[in-house]
Amino acid sequence: MGKDYKQIVILSGKGGTGKTTFSGAFASLINKKIVIDCDVDAANLHLILKPKIINRYDFSGGKKALIDNFNCQQCGLCESICRFDAIHNYEIDQLSCEGCGFCVRICPYNAIKFGSSQSGHLFECVLEDESKFYYAKLFPGEGNSGKLVSEIKRKALENISGEIKWVIVDGPPGIGCPVNASIAGADYVVIVTEPTVSGIHDLKRLLQLLNTFKIKAGVIINKNDLNKSISDQIYEYAEIHNIPVIGTIPYNTDFVKALINGANIVESNNKVREEISDILIGLEQEVNKTINY
Ligand code: SF4
Ligand code: SF4
Repeated sequence: MGKDYKQIVILSGKGGTGKTTFSGAFASLINKKIVIDCDVDAANLHLILKPKIINRYDFSGGKKALIDNFNCQQCGLCESICRFDAIHNYEIDQLSCEGCGFCVRICPYNAIKFGSSQSGHLFECVLEDESKFYYAKLFPGEGNSGKLVSEIKRKALENISGEIKWVIVDGPPGIGCPVNASIAGADYVVIVTEPTVSGIHDLKRLLQLLNTFKIKAGVIINKNDLNKSISDQIYEYAEIHNIPVIGTIPYNTDFVKALINGANIVESNNKVREEISDILIGLEQEVNKTINY
């Protein structure tokens, strides 16, 4: 039996294209949804959605080494072999330790412990309309954001109710491991781009990635009037590759103002609300075309 909801992931390649603004707008305009912020290295969708946290979970990204000073005989061997330079004066710097475990194996006195370390927090929240919202924060210097993205999605989807029709995922930037984790299970990806050289470059790289995973995508061109020539190139590229342009939005300083004020653009600007509502209708049509229940 198929699932009852459609999972939409919003990506952009580089930051600053308006991805989170669109995610926040969709979250505001769509009913019967859950929302997940998978940009775990720089989560900021919560600043727009202003959720109420109802649960906080610890996240463990991997293992770290720790010297037991009682058993340590100060031979210095571990310090000399740690290629991450994490050990000094018989102490291990937890931020520098990469958890390779080599020092644990070579210590002649079994004085180094190896255990799970807490790398961040995962937050379960409710929005004003009682929808669930999930986001996470890695501690400074912690890696493994791909694992945290998988964890936050697993948490969000584990008890999803049959009433939910949409899962809206604000994806991470780039095309690396966290993005791969964010698009796992996606029904459709919305790529928010802008008519700049880096915008079209990132769009092409993302579309190649999605093609590998056989995930359908549509494009929103934000600030489409900034550079007509590149905007035309995006249209041309999309047409050749059979990718629908599901919407365009002209450059509007209200987007930046809303972001600075932590406001949701569709709640502070009626014209933009109408524009994004129209895009949403087009998006829903495209998603329904691609899903066979
Ligand atoms: S190798 Fe073991 S005994 Fe030697 S300094 Fe390191 S922790 Fe201490
Ligand atoms: S686990 Fe690896 S990185 Fe961490 S202190 Fe030991 S040798 Fe260095």
